[in-house]
Amino acid sequence: MTRSNSTEFPHWPERLLAWYAAHRRVLPWREDPRPYHVWISEMMLQQTQGKTVLPYFDRFIRAFPTVEAFAAADLQTVLKLWEGLGYYARVRNMHKAAQVVVSDWNGELPADYIALQTLPGVGPYTAAAITSIAFNQPHPVVDGNVLRVFARFWGVDDDIRGTKVQTSFVDRLTPVIEPVQDRSAFNQAVMELGALVCGPRRAECDACPLRPECVARRTDRVGELPFKSPSKPVPHYDIAVAVILDQGNVLIARREESKMLGGLWEFPGGKQESGEALAGTAVRETREETGLDVEIVTTLCTVKHAYSHFRITLTAFVCTVRGGTLCIPRPFAWVGLDELDRYPFPKANTRVIAALLAWDAKKETGAGWR
Ligand code: SF4
Repeated sequence: MTRSNSTEFPHWPERLLAWYAAHRRVLPWREDPRPYHVWISEMMLQQTQGKTVLPYFDRFIRAFPTVEAFAAADLQTVLKLWEGLGYYARVRNMHKAAQVVVSDWNGELPADYIALQTLPGVGPYTAAAITSIAFNQPHPVVDGNVLRVFARFWGVDDDIRGTKVQTSFVDRLTPVIEPVQDRSAFNQAVMELGALVCGPRRAECDACPLRPECVARRTDRVGELPFKSPSKPVPHYDIAVAVILDQGNVLIARREESKMLGGLWEFPGGKQESGEALAGTAVRETREETGLDVEIVTTLCTVKHAYSHFRITLTAFVCTVRGGTLCIPRPFAWVGLDELDRYPFPKANTRVIAALLAWDAKKETGAGWR
């Protein structure tokens, strides 16, 4: 409960907390909000919907029930559990952070907003989420849901993509959350309201506990707020990859850890150059990356995928080796098709693998390629 002096503190936090108590979704990290669970869930939830995160969280916590277990795990095992969630720098940083927590903090995440931010991958948002949800400290969290709710509630016209708005919301919410006894519930309530009631495309104002004071509702501007400046055009690239088969095995290589999708495995390939056919791209990239000369057998599939800052259309070709000398200056492996699921791949590649397995199954029933 909050202090009830209405001249000093608004009533809406009390109504918000009552609404949350009645409508909150049961989520595993809420039912057992130990700091480790809150940290893992908050990292997974960045840029990702809750329903997508649920099975990942469950698998992750079963595999690594403690920070110590996570810190001791092999990065490849960790990446395999994260496969498909995207933003792989998150999990590489988390893995490093877990090792710091074990070595420097005896396996306990610190209950300190500043100390938490010394961990790899932990910024002000995650530190606020951990300290408030797990340790009940008065740090407001401001994510996309919170920005939307309060841009409408306060009638804020500024661009919510800007850091100025985010900082000003933290400043405005800090004196609100301070007198609240259950800060954990308060922060989760605002995020839950944004997820369930005050949505990006639809606001259920009649069901909203903030309705009486909400500026957007009173001024009929719910559809206009929040204001977001137009996003920059997202570049698109055509990519060709070579699925090279030799004696029943396929060639894969591991991306350098410092790169995007670092630590994940992939098929040789790259961007199409001007005036080049996609099959030519696959052959050229394979020669440059592996030293092998390959021959195209067939087009396997075309996959579209969107990353945060660009989109790709990836065309995969089944190839065989014609000549050349294998030379790859990074870890690589020839693996059986039934072994591919042991390796972590980017999402677009997992769809290529599904097409490869389907193609191979068809070939098994006809003329074999082996
Ligand atoms: S009243 Fe409507 S617009 Fe205002 S916060 Fe609630 S759901 Fe959002």
